[in-house]
Amino acid sequence: MFPWIESAHQLGRAREIWHAALAAPFYAAKYAGMPAPMDWTQWRALPLLSRQELYDNAWPRTGTMLTVPPEGMIVTSTGGTSGMARYTVLTHAEWDRFCAEQARALALIGVGAEDRVANLLVAGSLWPSFLGGHEIVKRLGALHLPISANIPVETVLRFCREFQPTVMLSLPTLFVFLADLALRDGIRFPGLRLIAYAGEHMSPAVRTHLQHAFGAEVEIHALAYTSADAGLMGYQCRHCAPNAYHVPSDFQLIEVVDMERGRVAEGGEEGELLVTNLARRSQPIVRYRIGDRGCYTGEPCACGDRNPVLRLAGRAGDDFKLGGAYVAMAVVERAVETVAGRDGISPNYCLRIADEANRIALELVVEAGDPDAAAPHAETLVGALETAIPELGVARERGYLARLEARFVALGSLERSPVTGKVRHLHDLRVEEPAS
Ligand SMILES: [Zn+2]
Repeated sequence: MFPWIESAHQLGRAREIWHAALAAPFYAAKYAGMPAPMDWTQWRALPLLSRQELYDNAWPRTGTMLTVPPEGMIVTSTGGTSGMARYTVLTHAEWDRFCAEQARALALIGVGAEDRVANLLVAGSLWPSFLGGHEIVKRLGALHLPISANIPVETVLRFCREFQPTVMLSLPTLFVFLADLALRDGIRFPGLRLIAYAGEHMSPAVRTHLQHAFGAEVEIHALAYTSADAGLMGYQCRHCAPNAYHVPSDFQLIEVVDMERGRVAEGGEEGELLVTNLARRSQPIVRYRIGDRGCYTGEPCACGDRNPVLRLAGRAGDDFKLGGAYVAMAVVERAVETVAGRDGISPNYCLRIADEANRIALELVVEAGDPDAAAPHAETLVGALETAIPELGVARERGYLARLEARFVALGSLERSPVTGKVRHLHDLRVEEPAS
């Protein structure tokens, strides 16, 4: 259902986007003096696009990344308060294309005209998810129940009892909430057959919890691997493991690069993902460091689809997700700086994030010359984190923060890169799902 195009054709399409990008002052300056990339070697010599560049140059802050005037467009927002919240603009035609690709992904996991789809995504605040949900359900010809996640959960439950949806679309956080209530009050969802989630990662523990509440026969699927800037980057067939996605080759070019060695990751090697959207021309996204890691499995899929399978392997380390928002690691670094230098405390740290019984556990581990002498500073460190990351307070209030701790370990004991010797600052265990 998703078309497949070969490598040479993909390069041609990517080159067209590169040409289109030159109409934007930002890209004209970025690529000044560079020849049009005629082969993959030249393509791979193009400079990368960082999250910071997107943030600094996004409309309306500046209009330097736009190739057309900001007319006939939809503005959406991503991110949260301490992360890098920013805006994305798409022409209405680009928005339609983004939604059409998403609809295809849902059709592939079996959603169709006979379904009743409860749209339990968040509306408002420029968030695209609820509106996108509407567009997607409309394209599938299914019955749409635009309930949203913005109303009291009791009202959500009432609508669900009344209309008996067969499919529910929402965030893992809301599904956990619904599951908790369903278990507490013995509520059943007799018609429900599919839970499709988006926006956040779903841990194996959450999956088990939902299965327990909604019934073992209910299927649980990620809506897709997507971003506001590039749209659908991966979709799942029925053979895909929870963290594996087919890449739609006529819509998206995803390169896997070993940044430390400065070369393409090969033969199942893990690397950082660079994304080039092959459709978005009003503000092209070219070789964007999306911040995720992964690898191509290099193996044909049993479903027969020739689009390659990408296995995601977590965040690249510049930021992490908390309650739907991105939190920049720079915020954590600044918190560590408040105690570094005192009583032999080193600026080398690692933030470990894990899933504990459906809740998030954060542990900030910092090296110190004398860990015992440094121990009294742990409280200061936790306080600095709480001040800098308001999402932690929200998580605590809503009961999905299992714990937030800081501790000190001996110098040299944190994991280092075998190539650069740098300390790995982020260890997000939530994203290491077992293959099924
Ligand atoms: Zn497949």
